[in-house]
Amino acid sequence: MSGSQKPTRRRLTICGQRIRAGQVCDLRLKMSETYTGDEIWVPVRVHRARKAGPRVFLTAAIHGDEINGLGIIREAMLRLGPELKAGTLICVPVVNMFGFEAGQRYTPDRRDLNRMFPGSPNGSLANRVANILFDEVVRKCDYGIDLHSAAEGRTNFPNVRGDLNVPGVRTLAESFGCELIVHGRGPEGSLRYAACQAGCPTIILEAGEVAKIEPTVLQVGLRGIRNVLVQLGMMRGTVHRPAYQTRVQKKTWVRAAVGGLLRFHVAPGDLVEAGQPLATNESLFGDARSVLIAPSDAIVLGMATMPAVKPGEPVCHLAVPRKSLRSIRKALDAAADESIPHQLRRDMASQVTSVEYGHPDPD
Ligand SMILES: [Zn+2]
Repeated sequence: MSGSQKPTRRRLTICGQRIRAGQVCDLRLKMSETYTGDEIWVPVRVHRARKAGPRVFLTAAIHGDEINGLGIIREAMLRLGPELKAGTLICVPVVNMFGFEAGQRYTPDRRDLNRMFPGSPNGSLANRVANILFDEVVRKCDYGIDLHSAAEGRTNFPNVRGDLNVPGVRTLAESFGCELIVHGRGPEGSLRYAACQAGCPTIILEAGEVAKIEPTVLQVGLRGIRNVLVQLGMMRGTVHRPAYQTRVQKKTWVRAAVGGLLRFHVAPGDLVEAGQPLATNESLFGDARSVLIAPSDAIVLGMATMPAVKPGEPVCHLAVPRKSLRSIRKALDAAADESIPHQLRRDMASQVTSVEYGHPDPD
């Protein structure tokens, strides 16, 4: 990242408090107020190393029910923060405190906070929350990582997303170390879109389900953040590369043709070939009503965890990789059985009931 780094020792003030080199500060960032006028604030921990270096923010729970990222940031604060050798790490484990408290994705005004950035000080409730985070944290940083999970009723095989045309994003995305990288600017108003526009290259991790801190997702997230900090020269160590890494060329949702109950034949992260059955949609009496088929060679990027569907509802999110399935399979076969790629697939498969096609009963 040389060249794009701004390693001079800059003054850093958050929530009106100056953070000096070598300090660790726990701050309260006021985001809003309750009906009774009490303050609603979110905790922010800042680790600033003695040595100058990049400033990186970590955010999670912008969608209040996506708490895998909260678990990842908590571990990062405890385990990576003290090891910081250069630069500054700003951790915001819960951005949408309203949603987190209520176990909901949105803010109380039913807005998607992740479409409000950079926000405005005079706008709607969600707009103001977005603006406070943006001005107090994002604008003061050189890089950002925002952590997400799939929406309710679905799960995501961990993947990193970012606009690879923005300088700095590619290095973040590749060093994070997920198998799959999805290139795209992201929706307008999303934190990563607005942060990149403001000169702070930012990626997101999409991993796992809502309302859970999944052990292997936590491992993937923590390893990813460590990798990025090592890559940026903020921590000692080596960047751990995945068994393989590929850009996703195209994503498609395979949707239910009819209403019914799904019997899955695949699990998140599985490699599927064109024509392979993904799920059988059955009536409540167990009669097969339709079989959903993979339209092309792909990797299962996400899938429904809720097995009851109506016509048109999403069942399987498929990612078409740039690399061939053959080369990916070879790389995975070479990885040790207890390695993260295999552990991750085993853990994620346990979240859905999947049976081999043609064998109607699970073992
Ligand atoms: Zn999200």
